[in-house]
Amino acid sequence: MRTSRFPLSTVKETPADADTVSHQLMLRAGMIRKLAAGIYTWTPLGLRVLHNVEAIVREEMNRAGAMEMLMPSIQPRELWEETGRWQKFGGELLKIRDRKEQEYCYGPTHEEVVTDYARAELRSYRQLPINLYQIQTKFRDEIRPRFGVMRAREFLMKDAYSFHLSGEDLAREYRNMYDTYTRIFTRCGLRFRAVRADTGAIGGSTSHEFHVLADSGEDAIAFSTGSDYAANVELAEAVAPALPRPAPSAKLERVATPAQKTIEEVSAFLKVDPKHCIKTLIVRGSGGLVALCVRGDHEINEAKAAKLGELPGESVLAGEAEILKALGCTPGSIGPVGLPESVPLIVDRAAAAVADFVCGANREGSHYRGANWLRDAQITRIADLRKVVEGDPSPDGKGVLKIARGIEVGHVFQLGQQYAKAMHATVLDEQGKTCAMHMGCYGIGVSRIVAAAIEQNHDARGIIWPDAIAPFHIALLPLNMHKSEKLQRAAESLYGELTAAGYQVLLDDRPLRPGPMFADAELIGIPHRVVLSERGLDAGTVEYKGRNDTDNLDIARGELLQYLNARGILRKTRD
Ligand code: ATP
Ligand code: MG
Repeated sequence: MRTSRFPLSTVKETPADADTVSHQLMLRAGMIRKLAAGIYTWTPLGLRVLHNVEAIVREEMNRAGAMEMLMPSIQPRELWEETGRWQKFGGELLKIRDRKEQEYCYGPTHEEVVTDYARAELRSYRQLPINLYQIQTKFRDEIRPRFGVMRAREFLMKDAYSFHLSGEDLAREYRNMYDTYTRIFTRCGLRFRAVRADTGAIGGSTSHEFHVLADSGEDAIAFSTGSDYAANVELAEAVAPALPRPAPSAKLERVATPAQKTIEEVSAFLKVDPKHCIKTLIVRGSGGLVALCVRGDHEINEAKAAKLGELPGESVLAGEAEILKALGCTPGSIGPVGLPESVPLIVDRAAAAVADFVCGANREGSHYRGANWLRDAQITRIADLRKVVEGDPSPDGKGVLKIARGIEVGHVFQLGQQYAKAMHATVLDEQGKTCAMHMGCYGIGVSRIVAAAIEQNHDARGIIWPDAIAPFHIALLPLNMHKSEKLQRAAESLYGELTAAGYQVLLDDRPLRPGPMFADAELIGIPHRVVLSERGLDAGTVEYKGRNDTDNLDIARGELLQYLNARGILRKTRD
């Protein structure tokens, strides 16, 4: 490709409304353009990268034995009613109406559509197992679309769904997909980690997320220093403290804490460590208000709370007015001592191990000191309620937890029979008995990978693409070519040679000064640069520099191809 024929549209200035490095660089390099909130156009440059990622995903899925298909984006309401997700999916589901007043949604995911297909097409165990996938545009009306294509509303996903006669067969395919994902992200040139995950709105039992490690990641991942344990912080278990709760030693006393609301304020005011304070949150349970207690230095884990039997599947804080009416005080003064019996008190494992603690007194502007469980406050139940923190023991008993940040680029689930049962997707087994199929589902954020790769690979000058997904492998930059016919001929001949060898080359044939020419190639992240100059031609050399190298290298013109091949630049795509 020649820059004279390719619409490069780089900009120097950092766009004001771009909130992460990848978003800024994708705009500055001219890879994407915003059409509306969370909705982007991919330019010819951006699309080259997106296609490279897509090709790797497609090749590895095919190699793993999955079959590609294409399902519609627009899905009828009736299908979503069958699984109850028309309501349950919530605000992310974009609902639309046609001229006949029929209701549809724009697909955020395809479990319903693929299960409908499977129940019509699959009749016998002989047709199983099967894994069907597509690479297709999804729409989720994200409450806060941000970071460009990383959390967009419209985005490209690879979604795969497998169907099995048994749970064991599903577990085997799950492993196959886990290994496939590992190959995909490795081939994309990314540093990543597979972590155990919460199954969230999609449901099912076992699930892993694949995270690209980057400080800007939205997710926190807990991993052990002493084993390969890794889990999304939402899921990571906070184990019970090793030591039992000490016996009470202090007297219960009420103290005035005027205008002290937060744990920080109260602990500073009373000069106690937040570890010796109990934080109480009032949430809406299925049958009225529920109190959740964690230690003052810990945070409630909403995903864990949402799974408590007392809650309706989500964790929603009660409003101030509601709390005032039920307890006679506002949220800053609530505590477990003297709560009405109608409010179940669920206490985190670490909070339950504290004695002589400080807590709200359920009276405006006052707290208790010297409070103790059982003596002063009844525990309905002890549960794992909090977010893990660095230094917590690893749940597998080996090492302690550290926390890193990650960008979720893939997610695999063992769904089991929930969708097949809800939608009556059955086959006949060997004995001629009707069985609901076991299902797995496997997603990859194809467009998100592009942004995640940039978050992980950039410097002050721009993007540094891993070879496998770079828009071009080589930037061929002849200096002042417009002034020299000899240079033009040399550039054309080298361009032909490199292209014939299978490299994707961007030949910069614009009459530009070297500075802006280099700056563009660096900003758009082309991993290898070859500079041609009159001086080099006379000496029989070209100048090579890897995007990550600090120094230029003079290479004999005749040895360039050999040198590039030896660097193993072109990851030739496999069949
Ligand atoms: P997240 O927690 O980031 O919202 P999710 O759990 O909702 O992700 P899945 O339903 O598992 O995502 O979708 C599969 C993949 O699609 C995710 O792993 C992610 O890479 C990608 N993805 C999900 N939502 C978006 C989005 N709004 N923009 C871009 N990619 C997305
Ligand atoms: Mg989501």
